[in-house]
Amino acid sequence: MEQPILKPDVISLLKNKIQLIKTSEKGGIYLVGPIRLPVNLSGETVVFQWYCWLAREQVTENIEEIIGKLSSANLAEYQQSSVLVYGDFKNREDAPIRMHSICHTGDIFGSKRCDCGFQLKKSMQMIKNHGTGALFYLANHEGRGIGLFSKAMAYVLQESGYDTVEANVNLGFVDDSRNYEDAISVLKTLRTKPVTLITNNPKKLEALKKSGMLLSGRTPLWGDVSEYNASYLKTKVSRSGHLKEEESCPND
Ligand SMILES: [Zn+2]
Repeated sequence: MEQPILKPDVISLLKNKIQLIKTSEKGGIYLVGPIRLPVNLSGETVVFQWYCWLAREQVTENIEEIIGKLSSANLAEYQQSSVLVYGDFKNREDAPIRMHSICHTGDIFGSKRCDCGFQLKKSMQMIKNHGTGALFYLANHEGRGIGLFSKAMAYVLQESGYDTVEANVNLGFVDDSRNYEDAISVLKTLRTKPVTLITNNPKKLEALKKSGMLLSGRTPLWGDVSEYNASYLKTKVSRSGHLKEEESCPND
């Protein structure tokens, strides 16, 4: 297909908003943003700065070449990850972040089988209340890295009594294959000071520590327990090593 000729102002507008983060000799991440994103948070309009990123095995700084390649890359067939930043994330001494794994059923449909939708909204609210912070929305993390179709199959097993971990293992998937490297590269571009991780998951803490990111602590995130997700949350604590919170743990 013939590439359209880009107008000079289109090129310069994008040049100012696309950063190249090198992650290997040839490969890297394009980071586009910030983009002003007003969000409805519990009825209040809160303005976040939004960035989206794309990892490629071969990267270039030539904007026309980037755009030329993307139009034929069929990107809608794949998910891209993004990050919502609030306040002066670069400079504030203390900033909470969340690495949120995509959950199609929980985040979009509001499924009560897990607590993801609740955690997503709650962490955005925590970041806003703190005055700064960032929510990374990780699009390749569906079903702890097994994908949506595989998660649906795992749900079939779970409906017959398998727990979350057993279901994955019986389908031949590892329990947790999530990778945080790209998100951490983006985080390091946006901020070099320590962050507080909003999570109940020690593996997320470990991934960040290993990357060399400065961590000042962890903020737990429990809540939204119902008859539908009580056993799922219990599995998270007993099988996946999620940290248990005395006051708010649903599974005491
Ligand atoms: Zn979920």
